Amino acid sequence: MIQRIGKWLQLLLASGLDVVYPPLCLLCDQLLAPDERLVCRPCFAHLPLRVDGDVAAAACRLRLNHPPHFERCLALYAYDPQVQKLVHFFKYRGGRALARPFGEALGAALTASDCGVNALIPVPLHRSRLRDRGYNQSELLAREVGRCCGVPVWGDVLVRKKATLPQARMDRRQRLGNLRDAFVVKAPERLSGVRVALVDDVLTTGHTLDECARVLLDTRAAAVITLTIARVE
Ligand SMILES: [Zn+2]
Repeated sequence: MIQRIGKWLQLLLASGLDVVYPPLCLLCDQLLAPDERLVCRPCFAHLPLRVDGDVAAAACRLRLNHPPHFERCLALYAYDPQVQKLVHFFKYRGGRALARPFGEALGAALTASDCGVNALIPVPLHRSRLRDRGYNQSELLAREVGRCCGVPVWGDVLVRKKATLPQARMDRRQRLGNLRDAFVVKAPERLSGVRVALVDDVLTTGHTLDECARVLLDTRAAAVITLTIARVE
């Protein structure tokens, strides 16, 4: 009974807040339909879709000094200001609801790509970061992709054991030092011969995803591809 009253109060409060702060699309400020969350369908449909899995083209833009350890990198969108805004909301401002549309779009791209992956592994957060943020956006994304494609999510196989620093302003040498020994594989025997899709929000310099791929290949994964919402040019 108390639980039911609590739920009722919660709904009343939510509807009251919707009257005071009606849910608007993050991109166009139009009122959202009852089944839309954070972004309206037309805005989402008009994001600059550019599924691109060409690792050679990507590699020349990545700031690695060796060929990437991943076989392909599937990225859905160009990192334009609208995509950037949504990803920022998804990652830093509690926009978990964006996992579903992004995950469904990524799932469709993965199916169409014919990459033949056996497992989805989200790029892990360090436990201190996970505690602060309350969720790992890559894991939410991977779960939606998995739901769409019927590929299992192995969220506990790759662990970030070192709390790495933000890398945006680091040079290549600093990045490599920052990532050294950052990731470890639990139950490596599970990875033998497995084709893995590493899931993350954005492919930027490629150092983090490359390091994850290297660690997974070291434990005899057959191949690693990356799956991200966007790729920075
Ligand atoms: Zn909109």
